[in-house]
Amino acid sequence: MAKKAKADAAFQRCINPDCCATFEIAQTLTACPKCGNLLDVAYDWDALPIPKKLTEFDKRWTRRPGDINYSGVWRFRDLLPFAPEDRLVTVGEGQTILFHNATLAREVGLTGGQLHLEYEGLNPSGSFKDNGMSAAFTHARMVGARRVACASTGNTSASMALYAAVLGMEAIIFIGSGKIAYGKLAQALDSGGRTLQIRGDFDDAMRLVQEAAKELGLYVVNSVNPFRLEGQKTIMYRVLEALSWEVPDWVIVPGGNLGNSSAFGKAFAELLELGLIKRAPRIAVINSTGARTLTALTNEEKVSWSGGRVDDAKVGKYYGYLDEKGIRAHTLATAIEINRPVNLKKCLRALDVTGGIVREVSDEDIIDAKALVGRSGPGCEPASAASVAGCALLVKEGIIAPSDRVVAILTGNVLKDPEVPVKYNSLQGEALVKALGLFQKRKPKYQNLPVEVDAEIGAIVGALQKPRA
Ligand SMILES: *Cc1c(COP(=O)(O)O)cnc(C)c1O
Ligand SMILES: [Zn+2]
Repeated sequence: MAKKAKADAAFQRCINPDCCATFEIAQTLTACPKCGNLLDVAYDWDALPIPKKLTEFDKRWTRRPGDINYSGVWRFRDLLPFAPEDRLVTVGEGQTILFHNATLAREVGLTGGQLHLEYEGLNPSGSFKDNGMSAAFTHARMVGARRVACASTGNTSASMALYAAVLGMEAIIFIGSGKIAYGKLAQALDSGGRTLQIRGDFDDAMRLVQEAAKELGLYVVNSVNPFRLEGQKTIMYRVLEALSWEVPDWVIVPGGNLGNSSAFGKAFAELLELGLIKRAPRIAVINSTGARTLTALTNEEKVSWSGGRVDDAKVGKYYGYLDEKGIRAHTLATAIEINRPVNLKKCLRALDVTGGIVREVSDEDIIDAKALVGRSGPGCEPASAASVAGCALLVKEGIIAPSDRVVAILTGNVLKDPEVPVKYNSLQGEALVKALGLFQKRKPKYQNLPVEVDAEIGAIVGALQKPRA
């Protein structure tokens, strides 16, 4: 890793194979100006000092003092080398753990196998978004941005507001009205972010932030920003690191705007290209049934990457159908309540590279899976548990073998959305149905009802001697 990087070894490139236009790192773009497609950060790897083996990264642990080796993102800076070392932005992101829980594994049907949970909720702002934000803010600072903006279902704004507060930048947040979990709104406001509650949904907010950015010169940190995804690649490096650099059979991730799945696919494509791994895990992207665009497009409309020539007409027709029927995304897993995923094409590419697969799970199954996760470790927010519910479904379908080694990404912290677990665990029957809009047809599986007792030792002993409900 001693060789010095050549200037211009990193650049931006359009993902459309019929365009392939390239742009300098110093440019601020969220789409190709020539054809409108998404951009990648690309590298001329031959001109860069790349480690010969992934185990070389282990040495960084012996040099933990110093911010950038401590960062779970910048520890892997050689694999996202677009910025000089002295410009890297960190707030201590990526100090995550990979939990292995045998009981949980058995519960989802992995009898002989292993289920590893990647707890991204342990990030400074409580979600995986910090991985991407450290890279996006590094770029924002390189280009001299003063005002950063995002549309958000909550976690992007919480993360952006945190980084902006640390760096003394102004944070401007677009959220759909009434669609944000309390913990996330609390964070955005607490960090001093300028918050616009748009009378519309996330998809409206996403469109408007891009228009506003053009008009007002704001730096957009949504996952259309290619630098965001560079940071999120490191989630996969840490998973491999925690598995002693062995590649798992599956990586399961909830799908919202599809930034994570896209970043994971890019991470594995590059590691394969660099000869640092021999095979990629299969990626499974899990939608909620209330926000199922990716499921519909891949499994029903048979839209695929097709060498980069994605069938835009089919995608457009599907969006036309959503508009015509007035279908809006609706799920308790608010972080994936998105019907027009901006990274659709990059996700299709990730599915192509990794032999990936897409499934949808119901909100009931998501919330039950969330309760199950809570019993095995630090817990997660609703959207995160889609990965565990998706795992159970894929085992049931026989696609994941009981002996497979599976990694499920838990994208956000349990405290992000305190309302859901309180309602889930304290209400029954009609009251529960009314509060969550779920469980009309079946009962929740893992409820933990609080017990009311008189303030008297006899009553307490009596209550504790009874078997649990
Ligand atoms: C943003 C987010 C998602 C969705 O991730 P994408 O990269 O947009 O698909 C899922 N879970 C949580 C907790 C999130 O914050
Ligand atoms: Zn282009």
